[in-house]
Amino acid sequence: MKRRYRLLLLAVAVLGLPYYWLVLDNSVSGVPAYRLDIAQLRQAAGAIPGARPDSVTVQVVGWRRVPGTLMVAGGGLKRNLVAVQSFLLHAPGGNIVIDSGFDAAAARSMDMEKFLPAAQAKVDAAIRDARLVLFTHEHLDHMTGLLRMKDFASVAPHVLVTPEQGPGGPLARSLPWPRDTGRLVPRKLAPVQPVAPGVVVVRTPGHTPGSQMIFARLADGSEYLFAGDTASMRRNWSLKRLRSRLLSDYLAPEDRPQVMGWLRAINDLFRQDPGLIVVSGHDYDDLVTDPTKRAFREDFVTRTVIPRPPGSQLQ
Ligand SMILES: [Zn+2]
Repeated sequence: MKRRYRLLLLAVAVLGLPYYWLVLDNSVSGVPAYRLDIAQLRQAAGAIPGARPDSVTVQVVGWRRVPGTLMVAGGGLKRNLVAVQSFLLHAPGGNIVIDSGFDAAAARSMDMEKFLPAAQAKVDAAIRDARLVLFTHEHLDHMTGLLRMKDFASVAPHVLVTPEQGPGGPLARSLPWPRDTGRLVPRKLAPVQPVAPGVVVVRTPGHTPGSQMIFARLADGSEYLFAGDTASMRRNWSLKRLRSRLLSDYLAPEDRPQVMGWLRAINDLFRQDPGLIVVSGHDYDDLVTDPTKRAFREDFVTRTVIPRPPGSQLQ
């Protein structure tokens, strides 16, 4: 009996501790005290004059389902839908695309269950039509859609990347860039940077060096925060739980203290304004099941093509 007990303890130690450490543990030290201030974001959203976006749509281009605890440490074994998404802000002065989807090769390398070429084609069309293309961060499932476009060179002048997200970025340089990226000129941004009427980029390094969130204040006053993979799932920010160490220390390394700093900041921002629609990077179920996300339409709808104002990458 004693021996069995010892064996059991040994099994718990050998299997249980790594399990706890790799997929349940949410501990982190040295978390920076980041703050997002709703008044500051609103002020920045009003800095560039012009008509603000009037609606937001989402396009899913692929997905897989993984145990919840992978994306939200301690989040249970029930499989959650992890969707690859692109977002489109419809604006009278020209549309804005946030994240560009990916392609079949990237989907395979990321072990996706599904890649939807027809949906990706809609994103491609939206990118061609957009006045501005932004990225939440420099990972395959957010940037490959743009990088593999045959007409990359003609689209590039309307793409805004930071130096970290550009071809020379520490992580971004391993992405599948086209041979000639000459027309893509990375731009250094302020920590809180207005980029279009109603649209603000907030630099939030942690998940990757080039991670940023996009705040959008629409014409009707509704407000969105596109969190990228700083908060891949709603529970990351609502419960202030990191991704599992299996992901954040090994498979897709990130700076856990920084990410936790931003998760706390998002959680606090939501308390400042519970009407804020926080758009988690991969949590499609959250977008379509939460009634407060009423402004979300599924699918990039084909609208009358708005001519791109000449030379208007940024106003
Ligand atoms: Zn990512």
